[in-house]
Amino acid sequence: MYEKPLPIIDPDSAPYWSATQQHKLVIPRCLDCGKHHFYPRALCPHCHSDKLEWTEISGRGTVYSYIVANRPAGPAFKADIPYVVAVIDLAEGPRMMSNIVIDDPSKVKIGDAVQVCFEDVTPEITLPKFKLV
Ligand SMILES: [Zn+2]
Repeated sequence: MYEKPLPIIDPDSAPYWSATQQHKLVIPRCLDCGKHHFYPRALCPHCHSDKLEWTEISGRGTVYSYIVANRPAGPAFKADIPYVVAVIDLAEGPRMMSNIVIDDPSKVKIGDAVQVCFEDVTPEITLPKFKLV
């Protein structure tokens, strides 16, 4: 049984979680200015348009920042330490917080190229994570 906290799917985030289940990463893109954003919002943060669409992205990015957690965020994370929590600069522009899946966290460096990977944690939830490339 999966014991870590799970995201709560609501109407605004449902397309995102539906895509991750299919091992695709989608984020909103503005039909007026063409820019992507993340997290999802009702209005484009670049031009305030409400003409947004979910768009599949490359899943490529670089490490903007990260920490190596040597103490678990809670009992459910104890078996994972040490683990990497990172902010990824997506190739499409926005930043996304996630984990970097790696055996040796000391190998992660700022600026490293990463690619999304997917962890099916429950029948409803698949989490996007990243690996070094
Ligand atoms: Zn826009």
